[in-house]
Amino acid sequence: MTSFLTHRAHVHDVRLPLHRRHSALRTCLTCFAPYGLRATYHHLTLSAAIPRRLEADPDALVRAVEELHEARGLWLARAEEYAARRRAEKRAGRRAVADPRPWWLRNWWEGPNRAWYEDPSRHPSLRLPEYVWRQNAILDGTDLPGCPACGDERPPVLNSTGHGWAELCRGCAWVLAPCPCGQRHPVVPETPFNWNGIWRRAHMSDEGKPNPHWPAIRGV
Ligand SMILES: [Zn+2]
Ligand SMILES: [Zn+2]
Repeated sequence: MTSFLTHRAHVHDVRLPLHRRHSALRTCLTCFAPYGLRATYHHLTLSAAIPRRLEADPDALVRAVEELHEARGLWLARAEEYAARRRAEKRAGRRAVADPRPWWLRNWWEGPNRAWYEDPSRHPSLRLPEYVWRQNAILDGTDLPGCPACGDERPPVLNSTGHGWAELCRGCAWVLAPCPCGQRHPVVPETPFNWNGIWRRAHMSDEGKPNPHWPAIRGV
């Protein structure tokens, strides 16, 4: 059994204390997190409505890990297909990785989704399986309208880089047009975040609704 499946079983295990089940969810995220570990966790707290007080709704952890598991299944199928093709290409003497790289091999610091790593409250609002489906479809050459990550079709937000402008998706801060200098610049969070606060779900209420008094929550 892979680590992911072992820890998924721990998230489901009602005999374990809730904090153990919660840290098992985190271990699952170290294996697979399409928005990056912190942003994927932030997304799941909203989509699965994980309350600040876990006792209020222990099933929220199960909803979260199942959303992740479903997305991972879609990714695994595609990644296995890709690995098989790569093996065949290598046997045929083609060693270089095809461009564009598949979405799961992208480096966060040079990817257009860098903002999700620098400000974990900025990520697509799509359910994870929908996001993975979208990324796989684009990899297969499907032309989808709107932001490649989240499909948002609204006009972009201009983000100053000090010497130019980058165009970011209004929905998820994906870089639609980079700074003219060609470099990827860091995205400064509008509200400074604290990972420990996100992990303890300071942005959620005790019952699992977004906390209206937490400033770093946007667009949900
Ligand atoms: Zn977007
Ligand atoms: Zn620049």
